[in-house]
Amino acid sequence: MIPFSEAYEIMMSNVFRTGTEKVPLAESLWSILAEDVISDIDMPPFDKSAMDGYACRAEDLETELEVIETIPAGYKPKKKVTKGKCSKIMTGAMIPEGADCIIIVEETQSSDSKKVKFTGDISPFFAENARRNICFKAEDIKRGDLLLNKGVHIKPQHIAVLATAGYAKVCVAIQPNVGIITTGSELVEPGKKLTSSKIRNSNGHQLIAQVLNAGGIPNYYGIVADEEELITQVITQALHENDIVLISGGVSMGDYDFVPACLKKNGIKILFDKVAIQPGKPVNFGIGNSKACFGMPGNPVSTFIQFELLVKPFIYAMMGSDFKPEAFLLPLGTAIKRHNASRESIIPVTINEGKIYPLEYHGSAHINAIASSNYVISIPLGVKEIAEGKLIDVRLIQ
Ligand code: AMP
Ligand code: MG
Repeated sequence: MIPFSEAYEIMMSNVFRTGTEKVPLAESLWSILAEDVISDIDMPPFDKSAMDGYACRAEDLETELEVIETIPAGYKPKKKVTKGKCSKIMTGAMIPEGADCIIIVEETQSSDSKKVKFTGDISPFFAENARRNICFKAEDIKRGDLLLNKGVHIKPQHIAVLATAGYAKVCVAIQPNVGIITTGSELVEPGKKLTSSKIRNSNGHQLIAQVLNAGGIPNYYGIVADEEELITQVITQALHENDIVLISGGVSMGDYDFVPACLKKNGIKILFDKVAIQPGKPVNFGIGNSKACFGMPGNPVSTFIQFELLVKPFIYAMMGSDFKPEAFLLPLGTAIKRHNASRESIIPVTINEGKIYPLEYHGSAHINAIASSNYVISIPLGVKEIAEGKLIDVRLIQ
């Protein structure tokens, strides 16, 4: 049995990368960016008005101004603003030559469309950091600026940045194909009749969802009975068709736990098969022929947690991204005690008024406990008690 940190290191030192591909901008959403994004323009590209109003000279604000031009957005001003003059201007329009501020339309009075008088307070226009209502050229982005680093997980806000930088196509990491096999002669698919001694297959479907969520392409091989020959065959096929193969169930010490032997028969070298973590101690990781296999204990929480802790960062790393779970420090609302500290323990918690409370949790089959919480905490290896009030990391599960 090895500590989780060691297992993680072994796994990460065996990551192989997928290639890259160019996709249309909108299709790059949720992919991993495979190029640094550099701006080819200044943003804004010109001094522009932040408000609807009049472009004028601050020193003229006490006099009535003559309106010499109307400047809508997207129009290049033709007239220079000189003493006593102004141009009517819309938000986003280019500032005309000679103007140094915008007065907002709400703070003006017009006797006719050719004349306007400022009715607001003049002092902010002459203060330090004077009010100008102008977005100055290049104040947000300078041409040549690095806007996004490769490895970014592309979210809607990144799509906006990519569009601003002129990227109609984006270079992203190719998503790995992930084969999913659920072993267990007791398993029945949802929608099929459940007879006595059988249980529903939740892991297969949970894993499909987790793979999708982590940016992989799931390929589902269904339920395979606990027969060595059958499991070996399906693993062979899945290895042929995928970059990663996930197998749920059949990795423990029972008479029908054939998965490690089936992996070896397929030329997979097992790099670890026991990790000091709860749930999920018998998790297997192996590689062979530039393919990776994870054999995960069949209890649904074990599968869920081992995917989060191991498979997800592996998938991200294959695409050139460093998966960092969202985590934040909060105080424990009640003391946590346990008798056996031989493994790191991951438990579901809830947050109430800024404090962490463990949820009712019956162990690794109790998937509802995980489903009713978005957070887990870790009780480290060797730790039997954590005092109330101690600040600990809460990890967001999403
Ligand atoms: P195993 O790891 O095969 O020994 O299975 C451990 C426990 O998880 C047993 O109670 C199984 O019935 C249950 N289990 C195994 N596979 C699944 C699955 N795909 N969905 C739900 N429960 C499962
Ligand atoms: Mg089983």
